[in-house]
Amino acid sequence: MTADTPLPEPPADCPLCPRLAAFRAANRAAYPDFHNNPVPSFGPDDAELLIVGLAPGLKGANRTGRPFTGDYAGDLLYRTLLDYGLATGSYDRRPDDGLQLANCRVTNAVRCVPPENKPTPAEVRTCRQFLERELRSLTRLKAILALGRVAHDAVVAAVAGRGSAFRFGHCGVHQLPNGLWLIDSYHCSRYNQNIGRITHKMLRSVFDAALVRRPETSTENDKTLH
Ligand code: SF4
Repeated sequence: MTADTPLPEPPADCPLCPRLAAFRAANRAAYPDFHNNPVPSFGPDDAELLIVGLAPGLKGANRTGRPFTGDYAGDLLYRTLLDYGLATGSYDRRPDDGLQLANCRVTNAVRCVPPENKPTPAEVRTCRQFLERELRSLTRLKAILALGRVAHDAVVAAVAGRGSAFRFGHCGVHQLPNGLWLIDSYHCSRYNQNIGRITHKMLRSVFDAALVRRPETSTENDKTLH
């Protein structure tokens, strides 16, 4: 597998979540210029850091076809990736803005846009097969940054099985049974930014925690920073 090898992605007409498939069809009719398909991951497949969000936003990733691209959440996420040299170029809310990720990849726990940004637990479970495939394919992966509790739970279930005792907590750091580090953050959604639950400074603290994580740096299984 090289950085240029496409990883397995859901088919454009993935039928596995009937409610989301119906929503996709309705959005194709309402917004024919939008992507309106499962949104593929973005970034090289030899990345050491994977960022996992919740799901595409209707007029963000579902419109542009690139995770976190075109909405408020992406402004903060890509600004922070650029801060840390995890992206090069410039972010301009368009999939053809020339932005490239460096040693980092971005995906979502659920690949299709859900109504009101709320996938059901069954939809998260169903789409987890694509997250699992992704995790198996990223052979150089060392750390996963989960944006929000749903992403955290999806990653834990994919790696450690459901019911595993890894609790979500902002800036929480967990070592998963396969040696990967999982770092938690509040999601950088517009709502969370508006109420001050997540700020640029807070997200930078999460990246500080993520970027020092290497399997040899600690033997603790579950550690929460401040
Ligand atoms: S959310 Fe995932 S599993 Fe469900 S229809 Fe979309 S791609 Fe398929």
